[in-house]
Amino acid sequence: MKSIILIAPPSAGKGTISKILCEEYHLPHISTGDLLRSSILNDDEQGNYIKQQMNLGNLVSDDIIISLVENRIMDNDCMNGYILDGFPRNLKQAKQYDEFIVKNNIMMGFVVLLDINREEAQKRILGRVSCPNCGAVFNLYSNDTRPRIAGLCDRCGSDLTRREDDNSEAFDIRFSTYLKETKPVVDYYESKGLLYKVNSSNPLSQVLEQVEKIIRREND
Ligand code: ADP
Repeated sequence: MKSIILIAPPSAGKGTISKILCEEYHLPHISTGDLLRSSILNDDEQGNYIKQQMNLGNLVSDDIIISLVENRIMDNDCMNGYILDGFPRNLKQAKQYDEFIVKNNIMMGFVVLLDINREEAQKRILGRVSCPNCGAVFNLYSNDTRPRIAGLCDRCGSDLTRREDDNSEAFDIRFSTYLKETKPVVDYYESKGLLYKVNSSNPLSQVLEQVEKIIRREND
């Protein structure tokens, strides 16, 4: 199975789609957002720095991210492929990742862009809630992903919470950062012929169908 890099503006559904695909194709899910949120729990100097940057909507330093991702990919369960969610997020990370895979004889795989416009992304951010226990993500404004019982996780019944960086001020910064830092990564992979684009403003079921079609084609 080839590895998949999922790139998207904030709230385009990267996390939700990755989790579904990982279960379906038995691939490990490497989410830099989740890795960073776990690092915050350490409550040390680095954890506090990460928390501050994330809550402001800024990117966390490349050195921290690259070491988290590279360490995770070296784990045994990543030997047959993985889904990268949230990385690479700027050109430095993309080029560093290229070097890392060459050095370690890892296959590149392919890249899927989940595209969404700013207005739709903002609406989704303000409706997003997630489960601190099992990581499931829901959206109050979507017929597809609204929790069945308000405030409770469909999967495990825990109370749902809102991410600290899901507010309009942090969203503005995250979206501008996406355009400035991550859009060049999209262009980079497009120029290498590795990029597929999916319209992520569509309902989740349609987005998923499109992504699965691409995965099947790539693995034929
Ligand atoms: P979203 O894509 O909705 O913004 P993520 O969970 O992917 O959510 O990321 C949340 C935050 O984590 C980002 O706003 C950023 O502060 C930090 N982050 C995640 N991935 C990276 C990365 N590759 N490089 C730098 N910072 C990152």
